[in-house]
Amino acid sequence: MNIDKNHVVRFHYSVAVVGQPSNESSFGGEPVTILTGHRNIIPGLEAAMMGRAKGDRFEVTVPSAEAYGAREEGRVQRVPKKHFGKQRLVPGGQAIVQTNAGARAVTVLKVGLSVVDVDLNHPMAGQDLHFDIEILDVREAAKEEVDHGHVHGEGGVEH
Ligand code: ZN
Repeated sequence: MNIDKNHVVRFHYSVAVVGQPSNESSFGGEPVTILTGHRNIIPGLEAAMMGRAKGDRFEVTVPSAEAYGAREEGRVQRVPKKHFGKQRLVPGGQAIVQTNAGARAVTVLKVGLSVVDVDLNHPMAGQDLHFDIEILDVREAAKEEVDHGHVHGEGGVEH
């Protein structure tokens, strides 16, 4: 079966900023499961998956505009420390903040006693990304999954 819109795809990936070593990979760990056509992953990677099938292994370079977009200056925000839970906060490092719109990856700029200055740009904003992808499984999505916009069952939302 070839990947098209409204398919459930299970895959392994590694990603690197172009010209740098990879620092994020699912190989050897839990694969990722997504529903295509519902913005579950960055548009450039989803486009590269279209037409592929189970067992395919490929590499693709995704320009920043098709990945996490341009880096915007002035997106620095002061956030109360409690929003970071027990995460270790190091200037220059990354952290996850819980916002009204869900979890969000940020870069820590400065750590104070009760507040933390963060850059809200996605850590990979403004970067061209190189992916190594292995398609493990492809199936058609159930109608309910299409309605919800996410995968149910293994690797997806249990509800
Ligand atoms: Zn659901």
